[in-house]
Amino acid sequence: MKFADLHLHTQFSDGTFSPEELVAQAGLHDLAAVALTDHDTVEGCARAALASRVAGIDFIPGTELTADQEGHELHVLGYCLDIQNPRLLAEIAHFQTVRQNRIREMVARLQAIRVPLEAQSVFDLANCRSPGRPHVARALVKAGLCANLDEAFERFLKKNRPAWVPKFKMSAARAIELIHQAGGLAVLAHPGLNRSDEVIPAMVEAGLDGIECFHTKHTATTSQHYLHIAERFRLLVTGGSDCHGFSKGKPLIGSVKIPLEHVEKLRQRATERQAEVSA
Ligand SMILES: [Zn+2]
Ligand SMILES: [Zn+2]
Repeated sequence: MKFADLHLHTQFSDGTFSPEELVAQAGLHDLAAVALTDHDTVEGCARAALASRVAGIDFIPGTELTADQEGHELHVLGYCLDIQNPRLLAEIAHFQTVRQNRIREMVARLQAIRVPLEAQSVFDLANCRSPGRPHVARALVKAGLCANLDEAFERFLKKNRPAWVPKFKMSAARAIELIHQAGGLAVLAHPGLNRSDEVIPAMVEAGLDGIECFHTKHTATTSQHYLHIAERFRLLVTGGSDCHGFSKGKPLIGSVKIPLEHVEKLRQRATERQAEVSA
């Protein structure tokens, strides 16, 4: 039987693998299909697509957008989208500016409590256009200001800690619409992590296409629960490891994998969407 991992990150957001290293890992884990879903960007997709083609792995371009639905932060995965779509690229450029400003604000708050971190050291370490809190944590450790990443989050970066800055979020409906107009499919990521089932009907109303039933942080019971929800709302089923690289010991890639039939259904629905968009 062949499997896919549809939730993966690279250095283009907060992962540690390059697109080529990620695809090499996919090969080691015998995956037949992978999707790249970096936060608020599609920059790594072209390189990952090329590496996948060489390795004989089916590649699905994707992204993971941060959104808000009635005060709940949630992540919306976009699959099979046109990575050249002008509006998608314009919005991504805007998110990246917002993310970079957020890093500057976090660093200013650290400096205000005499933690001498420079924004530039975070940007140098992140070396991508979508820097986030994990990069600030890594920079704190690298500068010897915290012993490890957990300490960085506990002391400074967690919600309501001194350097925490709220994240800008677009509405879930807007994220879904942005993905759709780029010919893609919108999938609610790891709903078990956000525990906000009550937002699902409104998202379905806004055009949600699928739900990530299988995820590293979902128990078997959680996955089963979301499979029922997928059936009730006639949503596509997806799943993936949410691998961010070697940052916590061995990589998660391939630890959550789904049968290829789900990828076939995803592709089929994407073909229909693309026909609608271009009509
Ligand atoms: Zn996520
Ligand atoms: Zn993710």
